[in-house]
Amino acid sequence: MTIPSPSMIPFVNLTWQHGPLQEAIQGVVNAVITQGDFVLGQALADFEANFAAACGTRFGVGVGCGTDAIALGLTACGIAPGDEVILPANTFVATLIGVLRTGATPVLVDCDRATALLDLAAAERAITPRTRAIVPVHLYGQMVSPLGLLELANRHGLMIFEDAAQAHLAQCEGYTAGSIGVGAAFSFYPSKNLGALGDGGMVVTTDEGVAERARSLRNYGATRKYYHTDPQGTNSRLDTLQAAVLNLKLPHLAGWNQARYAIAQHYDRRLAPLADHGLLTLRNDAGSGHVYHLYVVRVTGPTSRAILQAQLTAAGVQTGIHYPIPCHLQPAFQDIGYRPGSFPVAEALSQEILSLPMYPGMTPEQVDCVVDAMVEAVSAATSAQPLQVVNR
Ligand SMILES: *Cc1c(COP(=O)(O)O)cnc(C)c1O
Repeated sequence: MTIPSPSMIPFVNLTWQHGPLQEAIQGVVNAVITQGDFVLGQALADFEANFAAACGTRFGVGVGCGTDAIALGLTACGIAPGDEVILPANTFVATLIGVLRTGATPVLVDCDRATALLDLAAAERAITPRTRAIVPVHLYGQMVSPLGLLELANRHGLMIFEDAAQAHLAQCEGYTAGSIGVGAAFSFYPSKNLGALGDGGMVVTTDEGVAERARSLRNYGATRKYYHTDPQGTNSRLDTLQAAVLNLKLPHLAGWNQARYAIAQHYDRRLAPLADHGLLTLRNDAGSGHVYHLYVVRVTGPTSRAILQAQLTAAGVQTGIHYPIPCHLQPAFQDIGYRPGSFPVAEALSQEILSLPMYPGMTPEQVDCVVDAMVEAVSAATSAQPLQVVNR
């Protein structure tokens, strides 16, 4: 490979984000140390209020991670053994783990090939008299249609609980991620659009009762000190330190999301000519409301994903696959009852998808460098003639 690559292009670069904020971060960390309220402190209450407001919802309950936000959030909504909960097969495994921890029965459904998002028609076919909730995943930063979800949920009397772990401040059809249904879960894993310096998560909800139960669940099931009413209680609180850092970052989030969107548009524009060679971009139905947690393409036709990925690696371009094995085919979940062929679209996508470098601070030159490497790899696979490099 002879692709000019001035330096390696990482898949994500958090140094870019933390460099300019480092002194300010040290300032808020020192303030918490001085204050000494490390667990359930003031900065947590502040961040919960600020983040819930940013999502257009009422209450925020900070928890230890996004997985706990799903499990405790659903439990706080009353989901329990005997209930069926619909979720997409094409998601990070944490969605399924969160649903399983409630004791409810997960019912997986397939996704749309063009967007990789939950297929609402498939969800409707999966509804039974025991279905209580649907957990849409706003995968890669694009929301599942809020109007479509509300229409379906209202018609069948279902609760909507969003997995918004990849969709901080995403918008679609006038809704902000986290505000469609009764509640939603967010993750602040470091590489998420809003990331802590470690693990973190939040349940957001419009319902005061759900917020109160979630607050109890994360704090040993206590309704007041040393008085425990909820046997499902555990210890899962967002650290005050992490909340202080997240609070500091929150005002930057919209700008970071805009930067992601601009990078995605640049990719879309430059990759369009490669569609003839089987390299397809995912469809964006949300316009500028897509927050591009990940920029994912589909490698179909004559180009092999494995070879393309290897060539990109050789050219210094780091890529990822989100996710290589669908949830229902993971060894841990064989007893749920699905098998190869259960979800043909999710299974096909898992073989096609490739995530390209994406982070605010990635330069247009770096995007061009990634695309140039792809053009070279794809044309090598499909013809002797290199593709014309257009739209630069
Ligand atoms: C990251 C993620 C989670 C889990 O969040 P953690 O904080 O890692 O527990 C859940 N669902 C989706 C879609 C995610 O991307």
